[in-house]
Parts: sequence; structure tokens; C-alpha cells
Amino acid sequence: MGVVIAIDGPAGSGKSTIARAVATRLRYDYLDTGAMYRAVAFAVLARGIDPFDREAVAAVARDVRIELGPPVVVDDMDATEAIRGREVTGVVSVVAAQPDVRTEMVRRQRELVTPMAGVVVEGRDITTVVFPDAEVKVFLTASEEERAGRRALQNAESDTVGVALDLARRDRFDSTRTASPLRVADAAVVIDTTGVTIDEVVEQVLALL
Ligand code: C5P
Repeated sequence: MGVVIAIDGPAGSGKSTIARAVATRLRYDYLDTGAMYRAVAFAVLARGIDPFDREAVAAVARDVRIELGPPVVVDDMDATEAIRGREVTGVVSVVAAQPDVRTEMVRRQRELVTPMAGVVVEGRDITTVVFPDAEVKVFLTASEEERAGRRALQNAESDTVGVALDLARRDRFDSTRTASPLRVADAAVVIDTTGVTIDEVVEQVLALL
């Protein structure tokens, strides 16, 4: 395994934008672990399984085929857009809270990263559980208003209040679950991205390397 830059943070904290930009600058690979949990949630819905049925959901996590692409292919379906849609976003945190689902995704994430010379990995438990020994560990935050504003812009949603409520719900769920909750890892550097440009945050992350 090569150099790992691990980035965690709540939804809308700028993780994906920053992680992609850092990977491009360093010519590193990029792994979006949220997309993997979204892919499992997509498969659960596509197969007509109840997201609260632990055993059935765990079985999906173990046998689903996920290609992160782009395009994102789940089993044989192009799920690039659907994994970002409302239905998947509505159930992804429930699916991701199940310990068996996490065990399987963490196993796959470590396997994917093993042959990479350098990689930026983003998610909720990368600095705490998946790669606690990463060379760089960052926790991104931003004010609630800024996070909701960014997400609304990204999804072309005019209902910013609805988006803010959805983010708050997902954050609460992700931070209070028993299995690897979202939290700041020991030795992680916290960067508040409120009112800071993308380039400035990217420079701060690069400076840590
Ligand atoms: O990053 P993104 O918002 O796409 O993640 C979607 C959901 O997947 C999160 O709200 C969280 O429930 C789950 N997730 C997780 N662990 C990760 C990445 C994402 O539990 N490493």
C-alpha cells in the first residue's frame, strides 16, 4: 500500500471537491467510499428489499457488484445518477449503519487501495477505522448553512430548507450510530471550510503531506 490521504467529514463539508482536487494535483487515485454505501442502498432498493431487514441487506452488501467508474455500475445497471437521487439518499444512512455492511465495505476498500501507489480516500470512518495509520488525516467541517447551500446548488434544489433538514438528519444518524460513527480521529487535522476557497483548502491539505 502506498501513501494514503484520508478525509472524513459530514455531508456538504466539501469532502468530494477537495479530495478530487488533491488527487488531481498529486496524480493520486481517488476513492469515494460514500458512493460504495450509496451503491449498496441502490441495490437494496432495486431488489425490493426492506432497508431495515439486516440479514437481507448484509447479503446484498456481500454479493453486489460495484464498479465506481465513472459510470457507476451496480450489478448490471448504470446507477451514476440514481445513487445521488432522493430515494437512495433517503435510505443510505440506515443501510450504512449496519455493522455487517460496514465490515464488507471496509474489506473492499482496503482491497481496492492495496495496489495503489497514492490515493485520496474520503468518507466518514476513513481516518478512524479504515486507514487510521494514513499519512495524512483530515476532518473537514463547515457551518450548517454553508453545507446546505452547497448541497442545494450541487443538486439544483431550490428547497434549501428541505436540503438543510435532510443533511441534519443524515449527520445525526451518521454521528450517533454504534458502528463506526462519524467523529474526529486522534491526530486528525480539522479544517473549517466555511468561507474558504477550494484552492486554499487544497493547499492546506497538501501542506500536511
Ligand atoms: O459521502 P456521501 O454523502 O455520499 O455518503 C453517503 C452516506 O454513506 C453517508 O451519509 C453515510 O451514512 C454513509 N457513509 C458511511 N461511511 C463512509 C462513507 C459514507 O457510513 N465511509
